[in-house]
Amino acid sequence: CGIVGYIGNKDAKEILLKGLEKLEYRGYDSAGIAVRSDQDMNVFKVKGRIATLRDAVDENVKATTGIGHTRWATHGEPSETNAHPHQSTSGRFTLVHNGVIENYQELKSEYLEGVNFVSETDTEVIVQLVEKFAQELGNTLEAFRKTVSLLHGSYALAVLDSENPDEVYVAKNKSPLLVGLGENFNVVASDSMAMLQVTDQFVELMDEEVVIVKQDSVELQKLDGTPVKREPFTAEIDA
Ligand code: GLU
Repeated sequence: CGIVGYIGNKDAKEILLKGLEKLEYRGYDSAGIAVRSDQDMNVFKVKGRIATLRDAVDENVKATTGIGHTRWATHGEPSETNAHPHQSTSGRFTLVHNGVIENYQELKSEYLEGVNFVSETDTEVIVQLVEKFAQELGNTLEAFRKTVSLLHGSYALAVLDSENPDEVYVAKNKSPLLVGLGENFNVVASDSMAMLQVTDQFVELMDEEVVIVKQDSVELQKLDGTPVKREPFTAEIDA
């Protein structure tokens, strides 16, 4: 299982699909991508292989931002509904997650009473929390930080906000996650192998950090907002 993300000026869906193909070796039962074109978030997901996902993706969708996921089901059977990306009720936030949120039931009863869940995953709680806190705090980065600080377990996360289309929000705990650097684009991947197709420059993320990835910048912070500086490394083509 793994996640990928792209924000730049090329065809995001093709880069995401290629990236997911490179992650196939990790094993998975379903897969999906979300790509943003103009005002619309287009979500495609399937049970089964990346080849099946490729067939399900509308070729006419032109998008330069997106996220993708291969799922190894831990909560909820492998199905199209449980496949990622997951969206918040309003559709504003779209998220991919690898790992397990151990306290998702507690978070659901403490913060999300009355919210209608469509999947059986632990993951959906995360995207609903981001939406709830974004409404309360009026700021997506703060909402994301607050959400991440409440999660117990393992995760690699990437979130899109329809109202802030120029940013991808990323965080991890115990699951590996890298940001890849490019000219006029940046990427996110669980494994550099997924994104060697576009860059060999990667920055490793640490637990309790959040990253704001834009087309022309990557901003690392600690959960409290303190800026973090870390040099990229060069990934080996044969790694
Ligand atoms: N726990 C999540 C789920 O079951 C993510 C699984 C994964 O790492 O792919 O949907």
